[in-house]
Amino acid sequence: MFDGKFFPYRDETLCCEGVSLEKLAGEYGTPLYVTSRNSLVSQYKAFEEAFSDLDHFTCYSVKANFNIHVIRTLAAEGCGCDVNSGGELYRALQAGVSAEKIIMAGVGKTEADIEYALRTGILMLKAESLSELRLINRIAVRSGLRARVGVRVNPNVTAETHPYITTGDSKEKFGIDEADLGEVFSLLKGMESLELTAIDMHIGSQIFDPEFYQAAAEKLLEVLTAARSAGFSIRYFDIGGGFPVTYEPQKPAPSIGHFASVLVPLLEKTGTTIIFEPGRFIAANSTVLLTRVVYRKRNHAGKEFVIVDAGMTELIRPALYQSHHEIVAVGQHGSTMVADVVGPVCESGDFFAKGRSIDAVGEGELLAVLSSGAYSSVMASNYNGRPRPAEVMVDGDRAILIRKRETYEQLVQNEMF
Ligand SMILES: *Cc1c(COP(=O)(O)O)cnc(C)c1O
Repeated sequence: MFDGKFFPYRDETLCCEGVSLEKLAGEYGTPLYVTSRNSLVSQYKAFEEAFSDLDHFTCYSVKANFNIHVIRTLAAEGCGCDVNSGGELYRALQAGVSAEKIIMAGVGKTEADIEYALRTGILMLKAESLSELRLINRIAVRSGLRARVGVRVNPNVTAETHPYITTGDSKEKFGIDEADLGEVFSLLKGMESLELTAIDMHIGSQIFDPEFYQAAAEKLLEVLTAARSAGFSIRYFDIGGGFPVTYEPQKPAPSIGHFASVLVPLLEKTGTTIIFEPGRFIAANSTVLLTRVVYRKRNHAGKEFVIVDAGMTELIRPALYQSHHEIVAVGQHGSTMVADVVGPVCESGDFFAKGRSIDAVGEGELLAVLSSGAYSSVMASNYNGRPRPAEVMVDGDRAILIRKRETYEQLVQNEMF
């Protein structure tokens, strides 16, 4: 559930920890992302606590929220990083994460990505095809480096979630088919610059039932056994991310402890260090998107629109995944109304809620779009010539700007005059 502990109402106004959101909006403008530092830390600690009986290493999936301060906050707690590209690797390194705590995923890693990763000496590259293994080997040989690799297996398990975020099905582009693993092992035997250190999977995101992990992990266990009999000593068993959070109070996610109770007995059997790659679980509920009501408009069909200054350019999840985000007024209201909360962008898909009962806010008032910490600011775009928003992190009574609002000058700076 979205945590009132880190976003409490005080004196009838919504706060992030000890700081009033009204005050932050006044100081930094809107749209504004506001992140609770202690929420991030508390989610990470809850994850660690749940799996404390297991020999494991947690790598925060940077793509969920790649602000350097977010990465740094988690790294300071001992967390590693899972990155998806050269750009994310650069961010993690800039945040001060040491290379040996970084792993790299990605179905289409380029030669440049791989070269960069090998040069920095990251813990491992998770390969997703035979061609990628060949390319990693060529680069390692020509650079005189050894490459630690994991093999991402497609376990052909269809996790029940939104179709755009299921990744472990044989219809999806991710991972290597089990049927090809024999070929992978014999290929790897001949590649002296590659060291197979991990068997890996990631079956999707916002997965509510541990049964899907269980089914996929059981298949991975068979792969582990096969790899060992082929003579590889596998150090890591990586089960990816995907652990769910609550976006809607009516659809609460099972606790992380529940996932641990199902998975730990199975994972203990591997005799490896388990790698977890949570992204959403750590970041989603740490952040709100603050937005101001620009206009209210009622059409002749009786439909009420609340037009706000944030849109799909700041938070594309409703348009992309039909995601639900709770929306609350920053100032407390006694009355509610049914309205569509929409952005200013020229797309019908540019909405946060349709026919939703919300606080009866007027023009100029602030709304907070909750649970906007994962796959939100990272997907912001400049569509419609909109500068990307500022981001603030709150720690107790202190707020710091962690990303400046973009300027119009920055919008055109890479274009050639
Ligand atoms: C996106 C991704 C994750 C994180 O997924 P969450 O659902 O945010 O936990 C982990 N591993 C890989 C390989 C990913 O692509």
